[in-house]
Amino acid sequence: MAFTSARSIRRTNPITLVLGFVLFLGFVLFLLTPSTPSSPASSLPRPQPKGSRPPIRHFQLNNVTTTGDPIGNEERVLILTPMVKFYQEYWDNLLKLSYPHELIELGFILPKDRNGAIALKKLDAAVKKVQSGPKKNRFKGVTIMRQDFDSTVSQVEKERHALKAQTERRAAMARARNSLLFTTIGTETAWVLWLDADMVETPHSLIQDLASHNRPVIVPNCFQRYKENGVDAIRPYDYNSWAESDIALDMAKKMGPDDVIYEGYTDMPTYRPLMAMIYKENPGTDIHEEMELDGVGGTALLVKADVHRDGAMFPPFSFYHLIETEGFAKMAKRLQYKLYGLPNYLVYHYNE
Ligand code: GDP
Ligand code: MN
Repeated sequence: MAFTSARSIRRTNPITLVLGFVLFLGFVLFLLTPSTPSSPASSLPRPQPKGSRPPIRHFQLNNVTTTGDPIGNEERVLILTPMVKFYQEYWDNLLKLSYPHELIELGFILPKDRNGAIALKKLDAAVKKVQSGPKKNRFKGVTIMRQDFDSTVSQVEKERHALKAQTERRAAMARARNSLLFTTIGTETAWVLWLDADMVETPHSLIQDLASHNRPVIVPNCFQRYKENGVDAIRPYDYNSWAESDIALDMAKKMGPDDVIYEGYTDMPTYRPLMAMIYKENPGTDIHEEMELDGVGGTALLVKADVHRDGAMFPPFSFYHLIETEGFAKMAKRLQYKLYGLPNYLVYHYNE
């Protein structure tokens, strides 16, 4: 009896009731308040509860189109640049590309040495400026990578081109390109535009112009501006875009397995038709005239992402006696893709 009366006293105690209600309210509020991460640590991925699986992402690559109307179809372009040195002219030209920036992702790879450190500082500052500026100038995303291997070769132009240094140099560049490509290509990438860090002038409509040909691989003609007796002139720069010749094929047959044929050296005449030499100067020349190619240079090069996805990369070793971008051309061909060049469509390399 005493026990029941005690319970009835407690039940009716107003202080207990109020306290209980306040506690209950607090608990409900706690449940309803969304958890906002207050420190970086709380935004780390939470441990998966036992038994649950990581989310599965589905992608239909058929829906990633690569067409002659890339803007109309909102096709994503990945611009990839291996960079030893930061050229302001390259950056200014890049910013002026008229392809919608929200459809463009950028990827850079820089060597781990001092040159890479200097370039990185300038690139970082340039990227921060544009990505925090007006929305229409901002790119969809930017990836900057630092190489994990040494590039030992000197960068002075004459030394760079000495025949014996070529294989080492081109192999290092091939590895840099592969590393960059394999870490940045995404499920939504439709096109990859390779653009060297020392390409200082292109038409602003470069991407649309090249894509309008709707070819698996297409390369403009890379020239260089210079002064001849104080007068502005242009000359061919990149000799790596060519059509195959029987003489070069015969040369290759007599070579050792690791030997590589290089273009543009008088002691190794291949008699390949070079796109650099096929440029027609007279005004009114059709800039969209095509020629089929067997080797391509990578100073500016538009590739349908599927060509890379199918396995065409930049061999850092002798592949059919070809290396790097020329080896890539051969791989694309072995995958049954055709490559084209635009001899009258000029883009310009820096003149050091
Ligand atoms: P060339 O114009 O054909 O003589 O070749 P470059 O020396 O200009 O190299 C082509 C591109 O690759 C340029 O954008 C260079 O900055 C870049 N590059 C060259 N060597 C390396 C390297 O070892 N590592 C990286 N990350 N980029 C490189
Ligand atoms: Mn260059």
